[in-house]
Amino acid sequence: MVTKNKKKKFVFGLKQDRQLDGDKMNSDFMQKVIAEGGKGASIAACMQCGTCSGGCTNIDVMDMSPRTLILMIQRGEWEKVLQSNTLWMCSSCYICTSRCPRGVRPSDVIEAVKVIAIAQGIHNDSTKFNQIFVDLVQKRGILFEPELMHRYGGLQAMIEQAPLGIQLVLRGKMSPFPETIKNPQQFNQALQKAKKNDGNND
Ligand code: SF4
Ligand code: SF4
Repeated sequence: MVTKNKKKKFVFGLKQDRQLDGDKMNSDFMQKVIAEGGKGASIAACMQCGTCSGGCTNIDVMDMSPRTLILMIQRGEWEKVLQSNTLWMCSSCYICTSRCPRGVRPSDVIEAVKVIAIAQGIHNDSTKFNQIFVDLVQKRGILFEPELMHRYGGLQAMIEQAPLGIQLVLRGKMSPFPETIKNPQQFNQALQKAKKNDGNND
């Protein structure tokens, strides 16, 4: 028998079963994310329209779309959020943030979740790469890509990437030797200031 009161799944193009009522949201979890650097983010305002996912430049390699990630944060599904490769595939291009009609700022939310994930000791290829990248930039103020490649993937990675490296050098996009910055003292002062500010925010 066909029932007349069949439950509507869509309202104005939005899937009802995706949206969370305010009282079903995990406010503790959302506040934690906001406090860790997503102060501009208004996670609760997300209406699951999917505009962020539709414009995301890296969605093909993500296992969870930015829209779903925001929903999981609203629900307090911490484990799923932490396990997602979306945190590390996001390139911080800010397209999602510029397009979101509700001011959610998904890119800032992802950055905030990454800070929490690293603080909780998450280790993977991306965190390893990030750490080496930061170490090398702090070391001389400018990246020397072959050194990054060597520290990250060893000799084998250098050999594999050599053809690309040679092309970049020939086109003037990469120096074959480590470069120096103009004012290392000023750079070090800025670095110390940033570390101090970071420490004050802990
Ligand atoms: S664009 Fe904004 S409101 Fe729409 S799903 Fe993404 S975060 Fe939510
Ligand atoms: S900032 Fe990240 S999540 Fe947002 S559109 Fe860019 S890659 Fe996608």
